[in-house]
Amino acid sequence: MGDHQYSIINCMEKLFRFADRIAQKYGFPIMKTADLSIDRTKISPKAIEACRMLKEKGFQAFLVGGCVRDLLMGKSPKDWDLTTNATPDQVKEVFPKHFALGEKHGTITAVLGPSKADEFEITTYRVEGDYSDGRRPDSVAFADNVEDDLSRRDLTINAMAYDPINDQLIDPYGGRKDLEGKMIRAVGDPNKRFQEDGLRTMRVARFAARFGFDVDPATEQAISNHLETLQKVSKERFTAELLATLMTAKPSVGLGILFRTGALGVGDPALANPSIANNFSLIDANAGASLEVKMALLLHQLNATELGGTLKNLKFPNDKAAMILFLNSCMQEFVKFHAESTPLGARKFFSFIKNQSTKFPILGGYDRCLVEFLAFSKALGAPALPALQSLMHEVPLTQKDMDISGNDLMTTLQMKPGPKIKQILDSLYNKVLEDPSLNKKDTLLELAKQFETVAMQSLKTTLIKRGADEWWRLSNPEEENLLNKEYDFGGGLKFRAKDIPELASQVEVPAGPEVHHPEKNQLLHTNLVFDQAKKISNDPMVWFAALLHDLGKVHTKKEIWPKQHGHEEIGVPYVEHVSNLLGVTPEWKEFAKLVCENHLNCHRAKELSPKSLRKLFDLFNNDKERFMAFVGTCEADAQGRYGGYAGKPYEQKDYLSQKWDEGIELNKQKASTLAISGKDLMDQFGLKPGPEMGKILKSVKELVEKNPDMNERQKLLDFAKTLLV
Ligand code: ATP
Ligand code: MG
Repeated sequence: MGDHQYSIINCMEKLFRFADRIAQKYGFPIMKTADLSIDRTKISPKAIEACRMLKEKGFQAFLVGGCVRDLLMGKSPKDWDLTTNATPDQVKEVFPKHFALGEKHGTITAVLGPSKADEFEITTYRVEGDYSDGRRPDSVAFADNVEDDLSRRDLTINAMAYDPINDQLIDPYGGRKDLEGKMIRAVGDPNKRFQEDGLRTMRVARFAARFGFDVDPATEQAISNHLETLQKVSKERFTAELLATLMTAKPSVGLGILFRTGALGVGDPALANPSIANNFSLIDANAGASLEVKMALLLHQLNATELGGTLKNLKFPNDKAAMILFLNSCMQEFVKFHAESTPLGARKFFSFIKNQSTKFPILGGYDRCLVEFLAFSKALGAPALPALQSLMHEVPLTQKDMDISGNDLMTTLQMKPGPKIKQILDSLYNKVLEDPSLNKKDTLLELAKQFETVAMQSLKTTLIKRGADEWWRLSNPEEENLLNKEYDFGGGLKFRAKDIPELASQVEVPAGPEVHHPEKNQLLHTNLVFDQAKKISNDPMVWFAALLHDLGKVHTKKEIWPKQHGHEEIGVPYVEHVSNLLGVTPEWKEFAKLVCENHLNCHRAKELSPKSLRKLFDLFNNDKERFMAFVGTCEADAQGRYGGYAGKPYEQKDYLSQKWDEGIELNKQKASTLAISGKDLMDQFGLKPGPEMGKILKSVKELVEKNPDMNERQKLLDFAKTLLV
């Protein structure tokens, strides 16, 4: 009976198709009929068997959703979903072998054989209750008929059921016609459907991209109307849909829809940037590329920081984010290679990749990194790529591949641990990159010795070079002692002044006018300030800032010495550089920079206008403890000398502490300078003291802070009125 009916349908469809062709040929306005049909040979016999088993027990049973859609499109479905009026308990009885993981959503997985392909998800007809979270229905209820079940599904092309026993297609929403017309359309009222579940908007784009279909205008419009519901969808789900769209046959179709409707920007503002729309076709053109390469292409205009922020916001899976960031940083490195395109450049570039892949195992190793980068740069049409490809035989070399270690330098050359070791290893690494044949322990130790001697030599020459008028210079042994003095911060951080050129060069500079600095020499002053800081504070961060606070003096114009005006600002980048070199924490670095830039203001505190004082305080974000650590460092500066303030109490300390407290008060008083008060709100609007009034006053205050012109009684009352609930 079934087969008989099947052949009748087939004949009718052939007839319709024939009529269609005639109509097209002669231009008859006839209604388009669906002419897609199901090739039953593509249906899994086990899926038919599952339907039969349900039917034999008197239940209804249909294939449903994606598999019916795929069959009508002539494709072989990858999995089979069934829907039935049997309750989950009844389904379990029909299929003694089953899993019941999805039971609370009405789904039982029937097991009809040993392989994954023999498992079928069978879901009882369902309708859904209200949605309040924009994603999941608050409740699930079973329905009596298959049409009701289809009404809850997302798209017409996904809302068809097929009974393979009776060869009967249930298509209440015109899914087959939409498949034929290559149209994505929501089931029912799209506004209502997207209001219920924001993720459906993303599915529209994904299916349009997957099949290269158009989207029905009302459905596309509804996406724009319901961005707020999409906002409620978790970033993980959003990103999973976006990634699935990137991996479809025509990502630009889906991305275009999401971009035009504003849905893409819901994921992250960077995705709403018009420049990224130019990248959509680039992704289509690289259909075979990995997900990571596609995403890196999509966002290739972002710099590393922006890219990191966007990926974080999108809650990108860690491994994928790492690869995308790697591709971005690699492109920066590749630009350096482009400048010269030499074998050395290629070696450096490959070594960069190898260093990164060794440092971050999550990237999946050197070969994968290289392959992904080549795909990325090819997609972008990077002009240096052919040159790099001709130099692929250059072998990468990481610092770990060096035939020497810091330990070797310490044991063989008796060098002390400290930043000098890293400097020498870095220099050796650069040498070996230039000439890999140098990568032998003995040769490298020889080279290291030479670096040591050259460094000492250059220091010594400067010591000998001194002129007769350089009154600030100390005697040779005194200067040597200062250069050799070790600064120990605990936790393994210790070094000598001569290890850090920025510090060592202070031996050649005056500390300042002799009245203030009888100790004359800047390195001596620095050394005294460090010792003083250790007496004043237990915090090594303070000692560190004390040591670096005057780095700018060396770099002021020699003509103005010993005055060295402006050394505070000039010193900041040097403090940054030395902090980076030593690898101290960002907190230490920022503190040392603050001290460097502001230590003279601290000494001059009593002359500062209230505005300047406030500016100074604001640098410390209400953190008085940190502020007083700053004042303590300046105290060490004042006292770390042979005369002047040495030995005297640092009066600025109490003064600043008191002003800080008053300053906070001052902030509070600002509020009362508002043109309206809580009393006005009570008189004018009958408000009572309480949280609502507090909120309104806070908003008024914020308004005036941003916009002082608004601080007039009537203006503020008008504004407050708009805030009343
Ligand atoms: P695929 O081949 O990608 O698996 P599919 O159509 O089977 O396509 P699924 O995500 O597996 O897609 O969903 C199965 C069916 O469940 C869909 O065909 C659709 O009928 C329904 N569906 C899935 N997600 C939703 C949703 N968010 N809202 C309404 N119906 C949905
Ligand atoms: Mg599916």
